[in-house]
Amino acid sequence: MSFDRRCFLTSSLTVLASVSKPQAAANEAKSGAGPGGVGCLIDTTLCIGCRQCEDACNRRNSLPRPVTPFRSKEVFSTVRRPTSAAFTVVNAYADPPSADQPRRRETFVKKQCMHCIDPACVSACIVGALSTAEDGAVVYNSDICIGCRYCLIACPFQIPAYEYHEPVSPRVRKCEFCTDLSAGFGANPACAAACPTEALTFGSRIRLLEMAHARIRQRPERYEDSVYGEFEVGGTRWLYLFGRPASELGLPSLPEAAPPRLIESIQHGIFRYAAVPIALYTLLGCVMLRNRRRRGLQEPASDAATKPAVHIE
Ligand code: SF4
Ligand code: SF4
Ligand code: SF4
Repeated sequence: MSFDRRCFLTSSLTVLASVSKPQAAANEAKSGAGPGGVGCLIDTTLCIGCRQCEDACNRRNSLPRPVTPFRSKEVFSTVRRPTSAAFTVVNAYADPPSADQPRRRETFVKKQCMHCIDPACVSACIVGALSTAEDGAVVYNSDICIGCRYCLIACPFQIPAYEYHEPVSPRVRKCEFCTDLSAGFGANPACAAACPTEALTFGSRIRLLEMAHARIRQRPERYEDSVYGEFEVGGTRWLYLFGRPASELGLPSLPEAAPPRLIESIQHGIFRYAAVPIALYTLLGCVMLRNRRRRGLQEPASDAATKPAVHIE
């Protein structure tokens, strides 16, 4: 096959493949368990900030041991977010002093991927490297990831982390809900299994919501009258009960509508309308390259014709 034809075919196929992938990613976003499936309830009023969940997560995912040991409380001086070496982190937020509780206390809030029901990261991924598993967990396939990092930008909770330090094959890293362990609702994720105070409860999302609302009804003085994650961005699989407003505890105020719809339409628009110009530019690039190569081959002959003859006396 000639250089021109091979180049043109390759570029066209690449473009066509890239056009069809957003649709595949969009379909993945709509698959999964819908509002059912797995979930985990975090009752922050029971959390003591022991960080055993962080420790268990790192062990489960073969992540490096941190420089500051897990038992250390030094980390609470800053607000952290998950990284490629820590899929879950616990942050501390000082409670305002009150008349009946003059000693200033803290509320501890565990943070990880929220496993959104309609995940923005899945919709943003143009190759389908992020997808929703059967039980609803949002999982990642590093084999097909191209490292575009759209998922990092799309996530409303700023969760996915990128292995910038990996020169050869960097991956996107985040909590995957210990999918292999939790499949079939049979076992707890490592963090929930390690929690000594039952601040973390794993199970069916629908049952967890019932449990959360029952706790609010039974102890209205203890809890805010809402479950964070029930409706935010279309609902999430990690759900929170708080004794203080969520906005004071590092969780963003988000609309009920899922962002994927907007992201999908923008991305699909870009890819649909950019396909033809990209193919054209690639073709022109190939033609220019071919012409330059041909010129390169002809140049010595034309040089010889224009150079003055060398006379040997
Ligand atoms: S929290 Fe972010 S990374 Fe996790 S599923 Fe939702 S959009 Fe994706
Ligand atoms: S579910 Fe598994 S991966 Fe996710 S935070 Fe818990 S231990 Fe880590
Ligand atoms: S293991 Fe349980 S109590 Fe300890 S920090 Fe994690 S969520 Fe809180």
